[in-house]
Amino acid sequence: MAELKKFLSKDGSIRIATVISTETVNDAFRYFEASPLAKTLMARAITGAILMASQMKERLGTALHFIGEGPIQSIFASAQYEGGAKVYCENRNAELPEGVTHLGAGLGAGRLDVIQSRPFEREPLRGTVELYTGEIGDDIAYYLNQSHQIPAIVSLAARPAEKGVEVAGGYIIELMPGYTDEIIQKLEQLQPLVESTVRKLQHGAAPEDLIDIYLDHFEFEEVTHPYKPHYECGCSVERVERSLLLLGRGTLDEMVKDKESAEIACEFCGCKYELSIEALKKLRDSLDEVPVH
Ligand SMILES: [Zn+2]
Repeated sequence: MAELKKFLSKDGSIRIATVISTETVNDAFRYFEASPLAKTLMARAITGAILMASQMKERLGTALHFIGEGPIQSIFASAQYEGGAKVYCENRNAELPEGVTHLGAGLGAGRLDVIQSRPFEREPLRGTVELYTGEIGDDIAYYLNQSHQIPAIVSLAARPAEKGVEVAGGYIIELMPGYTDEIIQKLEQLQPLVESTVRKLQHGAAPEDLIDIYLDHFEFEEVTHPYKPHYECGCSVERVERSLLLLGRGTLDEMVKDKESAEIACEFCGCKYELSIEALKKLRDSLDEVPVH
């Protein structure tokens, strides 16, 4: 199980969520492989969603949708306050173009859509910003700053391995209303002294080790968070059927013609669903009932 910890400075002006998400990320890669580029960006995205959702309230969650012109095309990651999280990448085999080392080029220019549920509101809060660097962490920091006027330090890290990732984790430090210029200056002075998150993760860091410098220089109290992040898809045969409907009548017709039944894999977790020929026919026929204008 992943470890997540939260801290609040005694004056209430700085809050931190920090997590070691290696296991959660590796659960995402249990059913399918991905290129090192896709793995790294997907791991950062799900880690970011987990951290953001952890600062919400019961039964609320955050979804991050990165959409770019680069080879990755898009990454979707979502997490609930209770820890369930999942991630999907449009082109899991994407590689960086020859000679390019900047990982942000995987997404390229594009945008980040953030959908956050709100307490007591039926409609979620939607926000969109342009991708800042496409490196995920920078884009989340940019979103928090632009859409919520929250200055933030976001560090999301992952090191891909032969199978899944070797390590993944990160933290988000947010300034809360009432912060002073002095606090910003102090954070800015500390930032260059912080050792790389990947290196810390590789040395077996606990969540609080990732942010130890900040904990040493401000007075913090730990905030109890009763949930552990975990990979959770929440898929069902109904959802798989709904995604089949999007393929349209032609595709469903072919499936009905070719097969006795169809095995459909969920695109988030690889979980396989067997649909009978009757179920496929019913789906196909239901499309005819939709009025065409
Ligand atoms: Zn699933």
